[in-house]
Amino acid sequence: MKKYSRQREALLTELRGRYDHPTAEDLYFSLRAIMPNYSLGTVYRNLADLSAEGIILKITSGYGPERYDGNIKPHGHFTCKKCGKVYDLAGFYEKHIDGQKMVEELQKSEAAKDISTINEIRIMLYGTCKNC
Ligand SMILES: [Zn+2]
Ligand SMILES: [Zn+2]
Repeated sequence: MKKYSRQREALLTELRGRYDHPTAEDLYFSLRAIMPNYSLGTVYRNLADLSAEGIILKITSGYGPERYDGNIKPHGHFTCKKCGKVYDLAGFYEKHIDGQKMVEELQKSEAAKDISTINEIRIMLYGTCKNC
């Protein structure tokens, strides 16, 4: 058990120290360099647990494999449709989108007739990045 919690901590430290929204495989290759016994299956299991617990963010953009973010504060993302990379839109979300107001207005409207609770807003923009 001890080994698994250590691996989980190492994954969390790695993810929180980078801003490129790595895939499970990206994390696996980085973690293998410091913990040779870390298996891809364990990386997937830890990622699933951590995202289910709300400690990390799982990003499903629709382009390429799922990616992960150690920053769970609301912030906007941009996905490159060519390479599948996900970029942070630093400050953009706060500046342009009043999430609280949007949710309040939505909850009063006919559009929310089937919605019980709203507890998360995700903003994803799509296009092509400068590396592509
Ligand atoms: Zn790209
Ligand atoms: Zn992010």
